[in-house]
Amino acid sequence: MKSLLLLSSLVSYTYSAVVPRAEEQVDYSGFKVVRLELPEANSDIEAQIEELAAHVLNPGKTSHLDVVVAPESVDAVTALVTESSIINEDVGAALAEEGELLIQEVPAESWFTAYHSYADHLTFLRDLQGGFTSQSEIFTTGSSVQGRALTGIHIWGSGGKGSKPAVVIHGTVHAREWISTMTTEYFAWQLLTKYAGNATVKALVDKFDYYIIPVVNPDGFVYSQTTDRLWRKNRQTVSSSSCVGRDINRNWPYKWEVPGGASTNPCSETYKGQTAGDSPENLGLRTQINQLRDSGGVTLYLDIHSYGQYILWPYGYDCNLVVHNDAQHRSLATRAAAAIRAVSGTRYTIGPACATLYATTGDSTDYTDGVGNATYSYTYELRDTGNYGFTLPASQIQPTVRETWEGLVSMVKDA
Ligand SMILES: [Zn+2]
Repeated sequence: MKSLLLLSSLVSYTYSAVVPRAEEQVDYSGFKVVRLELPEANSDIEAQIEELAAHVLNPGKTSHLDVVVAPESVDAVTALVTESSIINEDVGAALAEEGELLIQEVPAESWFTAYHSYADHLTFLRDLQGGFTSQSEIFTTGSSVQGRALTGIHIWGSGGKGSKPAVVIHGTVHAREWISTMTTEYFAWQLLTKYAGNATVKALVDKFDYYIIPVVNPDGFVYSQTTDRLWRKNRQTVSSSSCVGRDINRNWPYKWEVPGGASTNPCSETYKGQTAGDSPENLGLRTQINQLRDSGGVTLYLDIHSYGQYILWPYGYDCNLVVHNDAQHRSLATRAAAAIRAVSGTRYTIGPACATLYATTGDSTDYTDGVGNATYSYTYELRDTGNYGFTLPASQIQPTVRETWEGLVSMVKDA
């Protein structure tokens, strides 16, 4: 999926298209790389674009064209389509930095039509970040049992890096919930690729700093791909048992000791661990939450799971307790569920976690509420309601990520 284009070879390749005499070097100062979203029937428009562009970087693509354009032609080219974004502001300046002369192709939307390996998910994040270096960076927070860094992307808007309160999004804490990886990645992809051309998205990105970790349980995720598709936990051992794995979402050190919402049996799917927070993955995640709490604060926390189609908020550990801002939680969730349903009819059930679904102790949203001081903490349980369960077909990835995106948009607007 990674496509690198050496600009030095671009120069020689486009030479004849730009100037008639092959001996002269083209001066690309001020030239821009523009991404143009194409309408369905586009042959006519494509021809007009090619006439105006110095070079087409991805000929044959049906969804969009990336073109190198002279500064005086940018307006004419972008006027041909309804959606466009500038990927590179100055091709000439990039050429001047010999040794780093490459355009890293931003992942295409076709990424969201299939499931992918863990290595490819890391490549996706790096390629995405590489296309938007002035408003994003890759970060890590701790590592897994087997030494894989918990890797995420930090996205910010016009206020600059770290200037706004945080929206924190975690995916794939349960290894088999593959649709949650795709959904969290889609959030990041939308926020960055639509920022320049979509006023709604720009407002969302300018409002908060986003910290998105698509796979917070990398060992379990890899194991679910290599060995056991339905693996849930991490890959941590205990001396007292031959069974493997803690449920990272029963391991957070807040109300961890309360009985009934997790298992003390290492062989159980919901094994809580030997002591509160004793998984390295949880250490990394709570360190992130605590740091953001102590800097700009956390406004919205989302933990993305599957399946069941629920939007849940604290508390998990006690079915009779009501969070102090329960009404506001309900209000945001109600509108988000309506926004999701408006896309393709998918119905979500909403409510406090314990009372609505089941009791959970040591879970993420109780921690982000009780210790992280997040204003809003939600668990999403994505499609479906059990027909396919964890093994949601690839054909449902795009419908799922698109509808869930509208839920995020709604929540961020309201938060
Ligand atoms: Zn889950």
